[in-house]
Amino acid sequence: MFILEKWVRPRVLKMKPYSSARDEFSGEAQVFLDANENPFGAIPNDAPYNRYPHPLQPELKQRISEVLGFLPATIFLGNGSDEAIDLLMRIGCEPNQDEIMIMPPTYGMYAVSAEINSVAIREVSLLPNFQLNVPEILTQIQPNTKIIFLCSPNNPTGNRLREADILQVLQGFDGVVVIDEAYIDFSTQASWAGKLSDFPNLVILRTFSKAWGMAALRLGMALASPALIQFFNKVKSPYNINVLTQAYALDALQHYAKLQERVAFIIQEREKLQASLLALPTVQAVYPTDANFILVKIQNAPQVYAYLLQKGIVVRNRSNVMLCQDCLRITVGTPEENGVLVKALQSYN
Ligand SMILES: *Cc1c(COP(=O)(O)O)cnc(C)c1O
Repeated sequence: MFILEKWVRPRVLKMKPYSSARDEFSGEAQVFLDANENPFGAIPNDAPYNRYPHPLQPELKQRISEVLGFLPATIFLGNGSDEAIDLLMRIGCEPNQDEIMIMPPTYGMYAVSAEINSVAIREVSLLPNFQLNVPEILTQIQPNTKIIFLCSPNNPTGNRLREADILQVLQGFDGVVVIDEAYIDFSTQASWAGKLSDFPNLVILRTFSKAWGMAALRLGMALASPALIQFFNKVKSPYNINVLTQAYALDALQHYAKLQERVAFIIQEREKLQASLLALPTVQAVYPTDANFILVKIQNAPQVYAYLLQKGIVVRNRSNVMLCQDCLRITVGTPEENGVLVKALQSYN
């Protein structure tokens, strides 16, 4: 059974969080001389960015709740979902003592974040069909395994993980199971967000960087039980989401139909691109994808990668990654960009 107070690092459990100037009073005020801000506004034209943003972004969480249906108390907003990955480790993993489990090939930041935090990494590779090796995962769990990272749809393979497998991991592990849903908008798979209240050890990652097209603004989410979200709030830096990002996201969320339209278009382009790639004689496999990218197995992938680069086309070379020999990961671009890529591949020999 998952017991939050046992999972959280003892120091984090006990520590007193930073208390900002604005935390320490309640009620109305007219004159703010508490936070050493510049009273005039931002250089050069006194733009209204001189006040620190609200540490917990209540307005944005409310809007997310209305549009996406997650309860505000179950939302942590981060400077990209990468911040949530890092914080989760700092909340739950004692440096030089605890470990996480990842399922390569997968997103690189889980391991990088673990290294930075002196947290050991246990790897249980995906099966050749890119699904979870559930029996092996369950046997590899150690007393000091604190987090299992699952990514569905998975990066770089593009496939979604089977729900029954994820369920077995969730039920068979007393630590936190992260399901990274960065690409869920491009998938036919249902989100696990609806299951949050069933699993106190479930953390879901979402991002505004992909389908929402806001990678430059750095906004990501962790969804979890309100009790676990409290620890994110305790450990995060106080003003982690800036005002410009919050304002932009508030507006973007008013245009959910536009997002759906964009996603549908990208999925259409994905299907066209898959067909074009499959028609190339050097292509050995075009893997099924639930994301906005395609993993392709192609003869002499490293050489093809270099050839494309020299034509000014950048794809991701994954050929030295486990289970991805001779694979390139190709993001679905605009029709023009996809056309340029396919043409270049057609004239490669
Ligand atoms: C792109 C990506 C992210 C997004 O990270 P941000 O920090 O929110 O930009 C998270 N997880 C996976 C698997 C990704 O591919």
